[in-house]
Amino acid sequence: MITEIDRRKYREKWRKKNLDYYFKTYIKQYRVIHKDKYVARYRFYNLMYRYKQKYENCAICDSSNNIEAHHENYSIWNCVIFLCQKCHEEMKI
Ligand SMILES: [Zn+2]
Repeated sequence: MITEIDRRKYREKWRKKNLDYYFKTYIKQYRVIHKDKYVARYRFYNLMYRYKQKYENCAICDSSNNIEAHHENYSIWNCVIFLCQKCHEEMKI
């Protein structure tokens, strides 16, 4: 006999499984469509990790919170500007 709890468990399992599948295919597609971005980020983060580099303060407002690396040009992957999340968002607009 299938109880309501079993059904709920099954549904949760199904959702989790499909979500995993969705994310995996999404990431794969993203890598293909935005290959330049993916390669630039991958190389850059690898470099940061290997040399244990710390992110600098924001180049615009000098904040040290939520620092992100901004690529001016994805083909020049090792040329980045450090910006806080807020300034980075504003720059994209
Ligand atoms: Zn800033």
